[in-house]
Amino acid sequence: MSRLSRPLDQLKPAYDAIVVGSGYGGGVAASRLARAGLKVAVLERGREFATGEFPSRFPEMRQEMQVTAARWRTGKATALFDVRVGDDMHVLVGCGLGGGSLVNAAVALRPDARVFADPVWPGQIRQDGLVDEGFRRAEQWLRPARYAKAQEIDKFKALDAASAAVGPRPVTPPVVVSFEETASAGGVAQPACTLCGDCCAGCNVGAKNTVALTYLPDAARNGAEIFTHARVRHLTKESDGRWRVTIERLDGDGKLADVVATAGIVVLAAGTLGSTEVLLRSREKGLSVSDRLGARFSANGDIIAFGYGATTTVNGIGVGHPAKVEGMKVGAAVTGQIDITDADDLSKEIHIQEGALPSAIAPMLPVMFVPNGRLLGALQSLVSGVYKGPFKSLQTFFAVSHDNAGGRLKLDGDRLDLAWPEAKDEPIFARLDATLGKLVAASGGSYVKNPLGAVMGHQPATAHPLGGCGMGEDRMSGVVDHAGRVFDAAGASSNAVHEGLYVMDGAIIPRSLGVNPLLTITALAERAMLHLAAERRLAFDAAPA
Ligand SMILES: Cc1cc2nc3c(=O)[nH]c(=O)nc-3n(C[C@H](O)[C@H](O)[C@H](O)COP(=O)(O)OP(=O)(O)OC[C@H]3O[C@@H](n4cnc5c(N)ncnc54)[C@H](O)[C@@H]3O)c2cc1C
Ligand code: SF4
Repeated sequence: MSRLSRPLDQLKPAYDAIVVGSGYGGGVAASRLARAGLKVAVLERGREFATGEFPSRFPEMRQEMQVTAARWRTGKATALFDVRVGDDMHVLVGCGLGGGSLVNAAVALRPDARVFADPVWPGQIRQDGLVDEGFRRAEQWLRPARYAKAQEIDKFKALDAASAAVGPRPVTPPVVVSFEETASAGGVAQPACTLCGDCCAGCNVGAKNTVALTYLPDAARNGAEIFTHARVRHLTKESDGRWRVTIERLDGDGKLADVVATAGIVVLAAGTLGSTEVLLRSREKGLSVSDRLGARFSANGDIIAFGYGATTTVNGIGVGHPAKVEGMKVGAAVTGQIDITDADDLSKEIHIQEGALPSAIAPMLPVMFVPNGRLLGALQSLVSGVYKGPFKSLQTFFAVSHDNAGGRLKLDGDRLDLAWPEAKDEPIFARLDATLGKLVAASGGSYVKNPLGAVMGHQPATAHPLGGCGMGEDRMSGVVDHAGRVFDAAGASSNAVHEGLYVMDGAIIPRSLGVNPLLTITALAERAMLHLAAERRLAFDAAPA
């Protein structure tokens, strides 16, 4: 596939619409606005990765890490993995053309119906029937599928063998992966998944149905101009009502001169952290927004944890592509899932997924586990390689549940900061530890919550940040309305909105979902685009390319 992006020098001074960010929300917005015939620019801070260019060795992986803490920062501003080290919680997000879809585990689930029954959502979400249509479109474009032979995968078998300790047996969750050779909904040829297990470092086969292989090529085919290394700082409203977007041009380590473009429509889709940050900065430049901005941050009750020393074979470390070990079928990053449901109390529901770690971090594993006193096993693996010895039975778990969305994002100088001092005391984390501890014990191993705890601290960490620009009925309860329109805090009525300014990504979700969020983010963006089209008398066909 040829490149989708073009150099920022080619950015024009004016567009009909500018989409900021290129994850699920940005991909949907770019595709639909371009299909409606608008002149669209997509601005993404990260860079474009062609299939085959994702990190497959540790030195490459190290180059793709950017870490920001309160008093220090390391790595390039365009590195693929963006880690925010926080006093109360750490957050991991993707950076690149395609956003989090490039590095996620691809699990695509719909939340329990009780999630949308929560009155925290604006009434229209329950009333207009378009949430279901959004999910239908999201599924048509991302194509969730269950791997038919999951029971043959070792990490699935290990989860199954231990499952009696916590209740239900595992099921195979839908993942947005092509298990057969096909063409994506965006019209890109895709080989079949090789079960290499490297999904969370980027799919070098081209079988993961990322935004870069679906919505973005569709947007480009319909005329959208896509720019990388373009980090939006803030927006201001011009006297004629158009939006002036100030962009930092990122080149490698630093930033070059700012660039400016204007548009009648701006869709912020820079993710929970990015969109909230752009609006916080825009408020400092005079934009009137709800004082709920930054509130209702949720970690989606999400943790990653490990079991070390199990007596069963797990084979949960990716082999990559080309495969580092011939004939080993690790499986997609997630193949099995245990659903602990609770008909009376939604907040107690937990989904536990067995995960595969990407092959590029394999050399780090012995080092990561040494501080936990497992020196002997770690050294054995250093000598024999992680595909033999104790790391053959290393279990990785992704667990998703609910929290109280009690975090708050704010600016600390020029840095986005997350404040959530009570996060570590959220009851869900103790429940998750207890449940995962039982699973690991049933496999004969010991539970390792965070092998990097000595370096990073023992705060919870999430890869599912949500909220910050949460939806509400009006500016007292939310930052955007049900269709992603940004409330104007200085408007005549409490539900007045800024004409032409939208947020469409994980930031608008006002509570935990209890399942991995990609499908809901995509569905809500599809729904918001239906409202945008109706409001502006635009028409677009949503059929796959
Ligand atoms: C390792 C990992 C595993 C995961 N596994 C799953 C899973 O299995 N299932 C699931 O549902 N979810 C998973 N997730 C979460 C999921 O990927 C995210 O929830 C999803 O990508 C969020 O979509 P989004 O559209 O809100 O934003 P993103 O996908 O985060 O996209 C935002 C984009 O905006 C760009 N950006 C940010 N700031 C700016 C700026 N100022 N200017 C220009 N561009 C900007 C970013 O670089 C990024 O490309 C995982 C995440 C990670 C990191
Ligand atoms: S298992 Fe490998 S081939 Fe399959 S989607 Fe994941 S990274 Fe791609």
